Amino acid sequence: MTSHAKLSPSSAHRWMQCAGSMILEKDFPDSSSEHADEGTAAHFLASECLEQNKDATDFLNQEIAVLPQGAAWARDVWKITNPTKFTVDLEMSEYIQIYLDAVRSQATGNELLVEQRVDFSSFIGAENAFGTSDVIILTDDEIQVHDLKYGRGVKVNAEDNEQLNLYALGALNNFEAFGDFKQVRQVIHQPRLNHYSEAVCSVEELSVFASHVRASANAIASIQEYEAKDVNVYLNPGEKQCQWCKAKATCPALAKHVVETVIGDFEDLDNVDLNAQIDVATGEVTSLENNRLGKLFAAVPLIENWIKALSGAVHNKLHAGESVQGFKIVQGKQGNRAWSNDDEAEALFKSMRLKTEEMYNLKVISPTTAEKLKKENVIGPRQWSKVESLITRADGKPTVVPESDKRPALNLNPQNDFENLDA
Ligand code: SF4
Repeated sequence: MTSHAKLSPSSAHRWMQCAGSMILEKDFPDSSSEHADEGTAAHFLASECLEQNKDATDFLNQEIAVLPQGAAWARDVWKITNPTKFTVDLEMSEYIQIYLDAVRSQATGNELLVEQRVDFSSFIGAENAFGTSDVIILTDDEIQVHDLKYGRGVKVNAEDNEQLNLYALGALNNFEAFGDFKQVRQVIHQPRLNHYSEAVCSVEELSVFASHVRASANAIASIQEYEAKDVNVYLNPGEKQCQWCKAKATCPALAKHVVETVIGDFEDLDNVDLNAQIDVATGEVTSLENNRLGKLFAAVPLIENWIKALSGAVHNKLHAGESVQGFKIVQGKQGNRAWSNDDEAEALFKSMRLKTEEMYNLKVISPTTAEKLKKENVIGPRQWSKVESLITRADGKPTVVPESDKRPALNLNPQNDFENLDA
């Protein structure tokens, strides 16, 4: 058995593609954010509802405290000073209820297990490899792994999802003695994005996946064993793995990959005149053949991501008082003009006898604001149907997306229409 690394399911999409990330990321602290804390609170509400067999509105206006070790009802953590708190409001309760209804519809007549720790160490040959699955449902011949994602970020698909595959392996490990399970159904719930995705994996497919994870775990263990003498060999840049990597601003492999994509091969980044080379590459863009254009365009998200990380790292270092060659911090442009005191400005204009329409920017509320008023029952259901009939939406503008996008391609080439007529 190999040891050392904590192979977290949530970052498996990274360490499975780029074993070296386990070394490069280890000196960066775990960062928390309000979004992550809100997600922790929402998960806590969902698990309390499932365990107590209640609906989310049963907890309306109650406060959830988010602590480093997880979440709890704020009333139970009164000894802790200033925990981050979230109130169960109508919005949170509505979104969590969507998730609860979907889980309960699958759980009826089956065994429902909430917040289960699943251990997949034995499948991948690494010690202490486990995760916590939000919900596991055991049917006669199927294990279901449900994952709630409360963010408003990107839609995540269950198909080929490394995190869910690891939970699935762990669930098989924990529960195989309880039934004759032939497959694992993996489900992602993203109620705030109106997104639900599920995929089914046979036990055989999971064992193929386990062999890939085992190879990654072995690579990670061997880099750690030899104290990362040549970690660069194990770095493998790519959009999926680099997107949330903490090391992306300083990763030499990503920097090399991005610069090579733009200007072509080079020996030593320190000896390249980047500005001149980028000027040449920019001048050549319009004459590139279409296949090359497509390849370069596919790399844009990764390049943009790297630029953002680089810019953030330079800002952070300069703000921390460190020097970065060629850059400094200066006072930025002044902000927009504003009244130092709104009430005084209002009183002054009144004293000048300005008319209402001269003094105020009056504008009718937007459909989004009207919808909020509907949720607050300021606008009733019958009134809402009249409001709704006035809402209109412009067609979306033609947008370039990857070939894998589910929407059908627009036919913008009129020549194709003539070809069809001839046929
Ligand atoms: S930035 Fe990309 S290549 Fe570099 S360590 Fe992270 S995942 Fe690996």
